[in-house]
Amino acid sequence: MKRLYLSRFAHFFYKEIAEGDVALYHSIKMSVIFLDYKTAKDLESTYEGRSFAEFCEIFSNNNLTESRKLIRKMIAAGFLINDKKKDDDLLKSIVFNIPNPYPHILYLMMVDGCNLACRYCFESMNQGNVTCEYKKMPEEIIEKALNRYVDLINANPKLFPKEKTIIFYGGEPLINFPGIVFALEKIKSMQKAGKTPKKLKLILISNGTLINNEQARILKKYKVNVSISLDGNEKQNENRVFSNGIPAFKKIMRGFKICQNLGLNTSISCTISNSNINEVNAVVSEILKNKVYYLGFNILLGETSSEYHRKAANFILDAYNIFKENGVFEDRMHRKIESFCKKRPMLFDCAAAGGNQLVVSPEGSIGICHGFFNERKYFAESVFNSNNPLKNPIWQEWNKRTPFNMKECLNCEAIAVCGGGCLMNAEKVYGSIWKVDESHCEHSLQSLNWLIWDLHKSLLTVADV
Ligand code: SF4
Ligand code: SF4
Repeated sequence: MKRLYLSRFAHFFYKEIAEGDVALYHSIKMSVIFLDYKTAKDLESTYEGRSFAEFCEIFSNNNLTESRKLIRKMIAAGFLINDKKKDDDLLKSIVFNIPNPYPHILYLMMVDGCNLACRYCFESMNQGNVTCEYKKMPEEIIEKALNRYVDLINANPKLFPKEKTIIFYGGEPLINFPGIVFALEKIKSMQKAGKTPKKLKLILISNGTLINNEQARILKKYKVNVSISLDGNEKQNENRVFSNGIPAFKKIMRGFKICQNLGLNTSISCTISNSNINEVNAVVSEILKNKVYYLGFNILLGETSSEYHRKAANFILDAYNIFKENGVFEDRMHRKIESFCKKRPMLFDCAAAGGNQLVVSPEGSIGICHGFFNERKYFAESVFNSNNPLKNPIWQEWNKRTPFNMKECLNCEAIAVCGGGCLMNAEKVYGSIWKVDESHCEHSLQSLNWLIWDLHKSLLTVADV
């Protein structure tokens, strides 16, 4: 008689209250079935496999028709398989279908220094003096970088129409404002010539302290979205300082308000640090008070404390619960929700993983990740040669770096909503881009748990989704 086995990707989520409902979740197909406690316990004890009829018998809580229906549902959702090889095939199909590297994102590193000296900055470029002789990206490099980018995106007509993003970054990119204006003019003429897709997003990532009305007007004219780093109220921004230790908060807020009042699309990037981690409600109030409708939370890179990781994950979820009632979009949580709702496994958590971005330095070298900009690691190509960076072994290797290719992740229930965190953090903290970025695990695990029970809340009876 044909036996049915419980997939190794089947995971049981028990509610903390004893004997409550149990969620059966398939970590790759992302399907969920809610079971009563006894059925779940019976099922959990069947790893060696049973026939269809035996399964009907052990689900004694249900009548025969209901048992049959449930088993068929579990077969259709991949929880019960008739051959253990099916699990391996499922995994292979995900890995086999990883898209090739393609530069959806271009980072222009407009300058290699910053006018702030934020205490938690992972870039370590915090020289904190705007008058220093930083290396600014000259017009020649800007032009070459944009030409190279346009050639590469046009080389794949199928992917060309998909949204592209050009990000002005640094250091503090506003230190090289003339360079930004030059780039914007070039981009505009490329757009007119149809060399960029219709959906082209331009983003300036800034600390906000240098921006003035005139600059903001120019950015608005070119429809640049501005993202300003802001961690909450004045006290919660105590890590944001100039090199002489003077707090930057007032100048950050001044820049933020200039952008907002002029009607620029202004979002914030909020780092969860020792100064705000215990005050989620105050951070959220500040965000709502300032009418921010789009933001992203950053987990501190280089932080190894599991207590911090747990609190940061709680922080993001607590904030999300308030944001969803107020129409605020938080990017980190949104990515997980989208993946879960669409049952689309998240292969990567950023565009460097996957080999989907180019980062151009002021002197024209091309790298894959802005997190390695300071030491120019993985900046192996150049705007001065005609090599295709996407064929470089670095892009090829990063293209494969997903939890679906990492044995430590294969049995993790959160594998399909995870993306594998930050490769730079994995290397700098844990030794290699192929190590698990443990700082992101807690957030992935807690988010999955939240998603499953949030779904449960919206269902009245046992259901498959
Ligand atoms: S690897 Fe980390 S630092 Fe680099 S682009 Fe991805 S998230 Fe950013
Ligand atoms: S990185 Fe962590 S949370 Fe993500 S799949 Fe791997 S073990 Fe799971």
